[in-house]
Amino acid sequence: MRLRNIPGAREEMLVNPYVVQNPETHRGQWCGFFGNSNPIHIEIGMGKGQFIMALAAANPNINYIGIEKYSSVLIRALAKQEALDLPNLRFIRFDAEYIEDIFAPGEVERIYLNFSDPWPKDRHGHRRLTSDRFLARYENVIPENGCIMFKTDNRGLFDYSLETAQVCGWSCNDVTYDLHHSPYEEGNFHTEYEDRFSALGNPIYRVVLRPKKQEE
Ligand code: SAM
Repeated sequence: MRLRNIPGAREEMLVNPYVVQNPETHRGQWCGFFGNSNPIHIEIGMGKGQFIMALAAANPNINYIGIEKYSSVLIRALAKQEALDLPNLRFIRFDAEYIEDIFAPGEVERIYLNFSDPWPKDRHGHRRLTSDRFLARYENVIPENGCIMFKTDNRGLFDYSLETAQVCGWSCNDVTYDLHHSPYEEGNFHTEYEDRFSALGNPIYRVVLRPKKQEE
């Protein structure tokens, strides 16, 4: 994502009521934070928030947390949430590398990864959100019956992610190489990148990853 610095964005993160401050203090207690026992679903690298906001509006019985590394991106989602004021949606400005610091084992039922940065150079491979290092972190926060839903238009990243997941002992389910023309499109909420790339004619790839142990 091309980043334009937005003056004041970082300061806004510190006072905006929809941005969770010190998320580490809620580790293991997110249900208490939301005031109910509904499942927690998160999107990592949520960008401007179109996807997670539509999901939260459609599913009031699920608590959603959008995680985004950069204030200048996240601030665009905040304006939309101020208008909608969805009680089951909050945001964290955070680097997902440290996700285990903010969620306890089994606390996150589902993780969405949408159009994650591909980091094509080998030496940057560990930054990919579907690298073995990140998968190991996710495995520590989702329950045995949890899952990761990953979509992208980048074939290289998709193939890498399937291969890496299998090597790391995850199972790859409901794989499609053309999401928008598949049965899985029903109920599929589009992200900003998804709309942009599919308008260019790019097929969208999608997989549901599950930790292998639940099949044993
Ligand atoms: N998911 C959105 C979509 O599909 O429209 C945005 C996709 S954009 C290519 C990837 C986003 O992931 C960027 O906003 C980037 O800042 C964020 N991101 C990348 N690495 C991250 C990390 N380690 N933790 C949190 N966010 C990250």
